[in-house]
Amino acid sequence: MTIAPPDEARRAELVTSLGRVRARIADACAAAGRDPQTVTMIAVTKTYPATDVITLAELGVTEFGESRAQEAGPKVAETARLLGPAEHPGAVVRWHFVGQVQRRKARAIAGYASAVHSVDRVPLVTALADARGSGPPLDVFVQVSLDDDPGRGGVTIAGVPEVADAVTARPELTLRGVMAVAPMGVDPDAAFASLARVSTDLNARYPGARAISAGMSGDLEAAVRHGATHVRVGTALLGRRPPVIS
Ligand SMILES: *Cc1c(COP(=O)(O)O)cnc(C)c1O
Repeated sequence: MTIAPPDEARRAELVTSLGRVRARIADACAAAGRDPQTVTMIAVTKTYPATDVITLAELGVTEFGESRAQEAGPKVAETARLLGPAEHPGAVVRWHFVGQVQRRKARAIAGYASAVHSVDRVPLVTALADARGSGPPLDVFVQVSLDDDPGRGGVTIAGVPEVADAVTARPELTLRGVMAVAPMGVDPDAAFASLARVSTDLNARYPGARAISAGMSGDLEAAVRHGATHVRVGTALLGRRPPVIS
């Protein structure tokens, strides 16, 4: 039996891109006078295979993001299979669901995710909590629409308290904070400044919910300037994706 050699070229690419992204985060933190330990990088692996997840996990990445349930389920299972404890002692892979969630997918997602960043309506809160049941609570970020365009998900700024109240009413869930994607064609600094104000208002009511999930490959510096605690990086780490229909 022959075992395929690990793809050394791909590994070298990921080593380089991970170093670049970590340096960008460190530079952005230095410029903002922030401790880099306060920013968690989530590697968004959509369209990329489980083998890339394993390679990044070997390089010390622990947080991984997916945005499409139909792709994430099999990849999570495949990653768990490849991540046998004998082959990868001590490796940790936690999954963050960052894409729009259809209610009928809530059960599967609540089964493998440690966090869902895209919670934007009360029925989804109920579905995730019911599906989670006992066990460690699921971390929840309320996704905010900064331009009131429902196309990419997110609740309006005015609607955030209702969703947040629903999350905190359920012991199966832990309210961590807010999440947003900067709208197309809007200055990311303005968008993330607005998200920071939403976060401040939420903290007045729920002091534990301080997290801000904001910033992607193109705008993570702006997000860090405005207090992002979780940046979600795909392209800059893994490479350009073919366009995805989500
Ligand atoms: C794909 C995706 C990302 C990563 O985007 P990049 O621009 O590739 O870094 C971040 N957040 C969400 C919600 C995504 O769907």
